[in-house]
Formats: sequence, structure tokens, C-alpha cells
Amino acid sequence: MNVILLGAPGSGKGTQSIILNKKFGFLQLSTGEMIRQNIEDKTELGLMVQSLVNSGEFVNDDTIISMISNRILMKDCKNGFVLDGFPRNVNQAKKFDKILKENNKKINIVIELKVIKKILFERIQNRATEANEAREDDKGEVLENRIKIYEEQTEPLIPYYKDLGLHYEVNGMKNIDEIALDIEKIIKIKFKMIKEKI
Ligand code: AMP
Repeated sequence: MNVILLGAPGSGKGTQSIILNKKFGFLQLSTGEMIRQNIEDKTELGLMVQSLVNSGEFVNDDTIISMISNRILMKDCKNGFVLDGFPRNVNQAKKFDKILKENNKKINIVIELKVIKKILFERIQNRATEANEAREDDKGEVLENRIKIYEEQTEPLIPYYKDLGLHYEVNGMKNIDEIALDIEKIIKIKFKMIKEKI
């Protein structure tokens, strides 16, 4: 099964996609992590996008789409994948749908982790003070910019996936295990629907 986890910065997508990987074996694919690795390795892509990422802006759509499209065609994605941080806007989603179709694949389910702004700020500020998780883009104005960009560019994905009948919502303000259970229930229902071809 191929899953998209949708949610603002700090909504818990990373944490929940790791749990989904452990429970169901879906490969966790985080475009943010891929990009941070490129920046750390000082690859051509990393050097090109570094200042954009550090200011909380998006990397251009075609770069991201080609990066993730190549990745999902690799063998280790054959039991399914969970996308964390992609797509980030409707253009990415539409182009990605086309690529999936050309490769006989599709997204089965989109789970939105819903968290109010105040809690997003609190969580990321905590993350920013924990040394091992410190991220340049988790700070002050950059964080505000990332949340603003999420509202403007990423939230329109909600009606997009609702129209496709793929969207489910989970309360992302419960504790980690409760959220994981809510997600698991939805995935199990979806597995049943796929099996019964509903
Ligand atoms: P994340 O770890 O998902 O918060 O991503 C960190 C940063 O990587 C974002 O603020 C963007 O600069 C970049 N990024 C990650 N995924 C995407 C995407 N799908 N489209 C554009 N930029 C992205």
C-alpha cells in the first residue's frame, strides 16, 4: 500500500511514518531528509538548494518530483511506501499522479495529521532545543514562514485528495501511540477495502 502523510511542520509525520514502516513494512520516504542528506554531502543538488531550505522556502517542483519519482521505482518500494513531506502543493501532486499511473502504481490513502498552530510551534521549539535534532529551519521566523507556506500551498491538497476519495483525517494532538493506533485502524480498513475491491 502506498500512503501519503499530510500535515504541517511539527505535526508528527516523521514519527508516524517510522511507526508505519515498523508495523506494515512500508518504506519511509522523506523528501526533507533526502534533501538534508544532499546538503550534508555537499552534492550539486545540495549546494543548489541549501539557502532555499535554510530560509524555509520550497525546492522547485521539478527537482523534487524527479528525485522522488526515481526513488519510488526502486525495488525496496515494492511492498509500499509512506511519503512524508511530499507532495507539498497541487502541482507536485498532479505531476506525481501522472508518473505513478505511467508506472502502474497509485496512492491508496492520504492521512492528514491535524494539529493546531500553537502546538506546532511548541513541538518544533522543543525539537530545536534538543541538540541531536537541531535543524537550521526550525528556528523563529523561518519556522513561521514554513507554517505560512504550508497553509498557502500545501493545505489545498486536502480538497484535492478529498475529491479523489483518498483523504482521511487523524487528530494529531493525541499522544504518539494513540495517533499510531488511529492510523493503523484506517490502514486496516483500507487493506480490507482493497481485498474486497470496494
Ligand atoms: P521537511 O523535513 O519535510 O520539513 O522539509 C524540509 C525542507 O526541505 C522544506 O522546508 C523544503 O525546503 C524542502 N522540501 C522537502 N520536501 C519538499 C517538497 N515536496 N517540495 C519542495 N520542497 C521540499
